[in-house]
Amino acid sequence: MKVLVVYWHPEPQSFNAAMFQTACQTLAAAGHEVRTSDLHAMHFDPVSSRKNFATAKNPDYLKPQIEEMHATDTNGFSPEIEAEIRKIEWCDLMIWQFPLWWFGLPAVLKGWVDRVFAMGRAYGGGRIYQSGVFRGKRALLALTTGGPEGAYVKGAFNGDIAGILRPIHRGMLQFVGFDVLAPQIVYGPVRLTDEQRAQALATYAERLQTIGTESPIDVGIY
Ligand SMILES: Cc1cc2nc3c(=O)[nH]c(=O)nc-3n(C[C@H](O)[C@H](O)[C@H](O)COP(=O)(O)OP(=O)(O)OC[C@H]3O[C@@H](n4cnc5c(N)ncnc54)[C@H](O)[C@@H]3O)c2cc1C
Repeated sequence: MKVLVVYWHPEPQSFNAAMFQTACQTLAAAGHEVRTSDLHAMHFDPVSSRKNFATAKNPDYLKPQIEEMHATDTNGFSPEIEAEIRKIEWCDLMIWQFPLWWFGLPAVLKGWVDRVFAMGRAYGGGRIYQSGVFRGKRALLALTTGGPEGAYVKGAFNGDIAGILRPIHRGMLQFVGFDVLAPQIVYGPVRLTDEQRAQALATYAERLQTIGTESPIDVGIY
């Protein structure tokens, strides 16, 4: 299996870094090909702009989706964006590793989506959801929270984690055709003991051994 791990955290000694390393090492040891986008190490610029493109359809008025379609037709993405799109086209499984920030993706990872999920290359022309460009591929969110698990169930003050992740699962990943696997969530790693954190990493590594045989989840359409 070809696996792309996209990761962002500002601290290389963080628990997210440990989850990222666990995934890369476990998958490689199991014989999978692993490529990464370590967005912090790459100094990835999350701001969508004309820097996405080597070409310009309309240099006087920037309409991102028009320029994305033009870049698709003319091989006109900037090398930085082209490289990221090719990694997605290459992979069978894509993992996003991140801390939950404000009930969503941290800005750099969100900006990666803004810039890399480009109209023409990632969606468009009726190619969405079941007809999406990346159909046949699978995606896994691997994340941490500050809050405890009990705060992320129906009726608790943060509400059901499935509802919080739905804009990512449905609006980003399924929109471009990915099947979505159940998220790997470590709730409040800062509240855990060293042993509990080590166990959480071991549980994740064990799951990754058989990730290739997992079935997608139903993320729900309200
Ligand atoms: C802007 C912002 C918005 C936020 N929004 C939310 C929100 O909406 N909801 C919410 O719940 N939380 C929120 N948080 C909190 C955030 O989600 C958590 O702080 C984060 O997920 C914790 O993960 P971490 O990797 O940063 O943990 P860290 O603090 O980096 O790590 C926790 C502990 O694990 C230890 N550790 C590292 N590596 C290992 C290892 N290999 N083995 C064992 N231990 C190890 C570290 O030393 C540390 O003691 C927010 C935080 C910020 C800054």
